[in-house]
Amino acid sequence: MPRANALIEEIRACTVCSNALAAGPRPIVQFGPKSRLVIIGQAPGSKVHQSGVPWQDDSGDRLRAWTGLDAAEFYDPAKVALMPMGFCYPGKGRSGDLPPRRECAPLWHERVLASLTDCRLTLLVGSYAQAHYLETGNLTEAVRGFREHAPGFFPLPHPSWRSAIWMKRNPWFEIDVLPALRAAVRQALGGNKR
Ligand code: SF4
Repeated sequence: MPRANALIEEIRACTVCSNALAAGPRPIVQFGPKSRLVIIGQAPGSKVHQSGVPWQDDSGDRLRAWTGLDAAEFYDPAKVALMPMGFCYPGKGRSGDLPPRRECAPLWHERVLASLTDCRLTLLVGSYAQAHYLETGNLTEAVRGFREHAPGFFPLPHPSWRSAIWMKRNPWFEIDVLPALRAAVRQALGGNKR
């Protein structure tokens, strides 16, 4: 526990790319040494930057519905680690938020993952996480082939409002992927919810 706590404090003090962050650095992560499920997303949006609470937005509501996790489990670091590709809100671009800062994942991810002693499943949420961990550039194909990836990785689309359009075009996601996702999450957390 002290190791994870010390690492969280170190991350919270990070200012490596502060010059590029219009809203300033505010790293937003959650993890504990016993986290069993790791959720690797993109980067906090402006709402999450303000609240400091990861995934406390519409995308988070969708992700919880997809995974079958309630808020109590989702925000329990003894169960779930929340670690985006960029820990700070990157600011607005011409068409939505800017991409996660490139400096962040190489700087922190390995150290965070090394501090987790019981990691069982990693959800790769969105194309940035999939490009980094699966080296795939096609999100739809990566998600459709969710059974074929390295054990322990489960790719998902980013649950932004755009995902509703994507789900309409790809009905197999709701039929095939979501039930398998919920089963994998439940298994990673240690069986049936009590
Ligand atoms: S985005 Fe990552 S590397 Fe940049 S200041 Fe935030 S925590 Fe540090």
